[in-house]
Amino acid sequence: MPQESDHGQAIAPQGSRIDAYVDRYAARATGMVASEVRALFAVASRPEVVSLAGGMPYVTALPLDVVGELVADLVARRGPVALQYGSGQGDPHLREQICEVMRLEGIEANSNDVVVTVGSQQALDLITRVFIDPGDVILAEGPSYVGALGTFSAYQARVIHIAMDDEGMIPESLAQTIYALKTAGTRIKFLYTIPNFHNPAGVTLNTTRRQQILEICQRADVLIVEDNPYGLLGFEGTTMRALRADCPDGVVYLGSFSKTLAPGFRVGWALAPHAIRDKLVLAMESAVLSHSTFTQLAVGQYLTTQPWRQQIKTFRELYCERRDAMLGALEAMMPAGCSWTRPAGGFFVWATLPEGLDAKVLLPRAVAERVAFVPGAGFYADGGGARNMRLSYCYPEPERIREGVRRLAGVIEQEMQT
Ligand code: PMP
Repeated sequence: MPQESDHGQAIAPQGSRIDAYVDRYAARATGMVASEVRALFAVASRPEVVSLAGGMPYVTALPLDVVGELVADLVARRGPVALQYGSGQGDPHLREQICEVMRLEGIEANSNDVVVTVGSQQALDLITRVFIDPGDVILAEGPSYVGALGTFSAYQARVIHIAMDDEGMIPESLAQTIYALKTAGTRIKFLYTIPNFHNPAGVTLNTTRRQQILEICQRADVLIVEDNPYGLLGFEGTTMRALRADCPDGVVYLGSFSKTLAPGFRVGWALAPHAIRDKLVLAMESAVLSHSTFTQLAVGQYLTTQPWRQQIKTFRELYCERRDAMLGALEAMMPAGCSWTRPAGGFFVWATLPEGLDAKVLLPRAVAERVAFVPGAGFYADGGGARNMRLSYCYPEPERIREGVRRLAGVIEQEMQT
């Protein structure tokens, strides 16, 4: 599975150097390959290019001076603790605060079941390390988060996609896939799902399907890994109930402060049933000994002293305005035959090109016209997504978004004529 940057940051083009160590790598390292579109992202980060590619939160909207004071105060008051090693499970006070955040999604959790991780990306790595042997099966929506697919690939998992539509994962598709695998004697290690404001599909699992999916997984004894970094970024004023809220024993819930505060702190978490939590803590200790005490205490201090719910509302309003700019521009400018999802929160629109077009072929032409996106193929483990593009609206200003869509529509139109 080619791994692509989810954030569209500048990455040096791959050179053609011969790798002298190629015969010494572990078999799993063969699953770690750079994407062919990475070089294009280096170009896409030039200021004249409108990047609809990156998934970077707009941290400029934070009160940066306040964050600066808070960090300075932390060192002055609690330096000897903040600069010391911490526990493998994470700071106890922060774990309590994380439980309070999760309460907004209907989760009643004990802080003892929370493991603080280096972003939810590390939680994904730990959970995969704990459960997956080469060849083991993971179910995931098709498309799915590129960073998760990269991790699954690094541990040599076999990913089987479950179909989705505008209401999220399709329960019948899940039930059929589970039935077929079980009939063939294949064990499923877990179902990986992003129920809210999906990356990259931009859709949200509806309430009825949540119950159906929980029932299907309970009946078939399939563990669910619920990845929910965008859950509090809904534009319609409601927060969906987490799958974990109704099934504490069958769901590992992953959360993150990357989108509600800042990804630079690299603070995420896993909430897991006791036995799995114990394994995750051991895996965490073997990976990094302990998370950075400093950033954990900084996030804790932020949550204690700052109006964080208000800040999330500010983010929601900002992203909502950008979503509207993108949907309006797509409606006004995209050629007939293109379609796209209409996200009710989060960062991403998932667009589908007319029959016969290939998003990967289109990308260099789009970059030449100073607009970038992420081609859909990287979000599938099975070769799907050729006609898809992920368009993100989280970072550029609304006017830039409209200009980016205008350029993109022009490139597609040209492509349709050739
Ligand atoms: N899961 C999903 C669905 C994501 O979109 C991201 C970030 N792009 C992550 C996990 C990882 O986020 P972080 O490690 O910053 O918490």
